[in-house]
Amino acid sequence: MSKIDKKDKISRPRGTRDILPDEMEKRRRYELIMREIAENYGYREIQTPVFENLELFTIKSGEDIIEEIYNFKDKHGRELALRPELTAPVLRAFVNECSVMPKPLRFYYIANCFRYERPQKGRYREFWQFGVELIGSGSHLADAEVILLAYNILRELKLDFELKIGHVGLLRHLLREIEEEKASKIMRLIDKKDEKGLKELVREPSIPAELEKNIYELIEAEGSRDVVDDVSKIIPDYDFSQINNLCDVLDALGVEYSLDFGIARGLDYYTGVVFEVYAKSGLGAQNQLCGGGSYRLAHLFGGQDIPSTGFALGFDRIAEICKISPEKRDTVVVINLGYEAETLKIAETIRNEINKRVITDVMGRNLKKQMSFANDVGADYVVIVGEREIKQNRFVVKDMRTGEQKLLSVEEIVSLLK
Ligand code: ATP
Ligand code: MG
Repeated sequence: MSKIDKKDKISRPRGTRDILPDEMEKRRRYELIMREIAENYGYREIQTPVFENLELFTIKSGEDIIEEIYNFKDKHGRELALRPELTAPVLRAFVNECSVMPKPLRFYYIANCFRYERPQKGRYREFWQFGVELIGSGSHLADAEVILLAYNILRELKLDFELKIGHVGLLRHLLREIEEEKASKIMRLIDKKDEKGLKELVREPSIPAELEKNIYELIEAEGSRDVVDDVSKIIPDYDFSQINNLCDVLDALGVEYSLDFGIARGLDYYTGVVFEVYAKSGLGAQNQLCGGGSYRLAHLFGGQDIPSTGFALGFDRIAEICKISPEKRDTVVVINLGYEAETLKIAETIRNEINKRVITDVMGRNLKKQMSFANDVGADYVVIVGEREIKQNRFVVKDMRTGEQKLLSVEEIVSLLK
């Protein structure tokens, strides 16, 4: 072969995946479960562009975030970015399109996101999130609703997980005297559990020793509801009613969770209750399945300053550990021995009348090869359309699981396969 004919295989970009049909069937099943539950809570699907103006993502988090983003200039020189998450896009869409709609608004999405990260198990450069945004309420009932929704989805998927709830308002309150940039940096180090980086930063002379002590006590406060009492000793002038009311509702509903005031969330827009869900096994270090909380973003995009709450589930990590099998569809192979019109008519009848998956030969193969292909695709039934069968208007149907064969009319085949 000449040089021109034979090319090296082109591989996919680093951090991306090809998701083949077996895996896609599983993913669609999980997606359906998520959609149905979200719709049961009154959420409706929204779709936003894959790329946005870069500014949408830097407006709150600052230029640092660009390191983690796929950004580029288009032919006109516009600064654009592939979305790294959906909360900012959904809130932008809300401000642009739906700000006069009756509130609260309930949106859900399932969409791909892009981040320039170091790829590893459970961490990709293109990945999917299923998420919701409840726009217009800052009530503990809004927090409770989205937490309950995430919790029910993960339960329905039969995952073994741990739900942790915190409140970034407390940390922000403690850090209120510190300049904003440094405060955000501290929050980010806490989020990344970067103990060394945090130690270096809070030791700086600009941070009083008392505050340093309080930060550590707060982020180490973890456990059952009693930790609220411990924390209220550290921050006596804070109003704990939101978190207490939320806990009352979740306790009444039997939701299992623990409190963790060390949850800081990476993005700067969270303001109140925050939560994270971790898989107990199967994922190694990248075991965070879900992150969410209440935030304020709409005013940064030119809308009213209204509170919202939401979460995003890491769809790929869930797909990696979920054991639920995809729904099995019966497969029927109609053997094509050259009587094309008859073969295709029977195949169409079975597809249209009883909605089965029906495969016919498109390779001009003989009976033996078609039978072995039927085996390869896991056919449940094979229907043979030969000359003799066409003459007597009855066709051989073989049950591939039992080996049993019957001679049946098309109507009888349809009722057998139903
Ligand atoms: P992590 O700390 O693992 O990087 P994160 O805090 O950046 O997560 P969020 O921005 O809250 O994550 O996104 C919500 C969920 O999306 C995460 O809980 C995780 O399950 C999933 N996720 C985030 N980044 C990736 C990625 N690069 N690949 C696959 N899933 C991801
Ligand atoms: Mg991350």
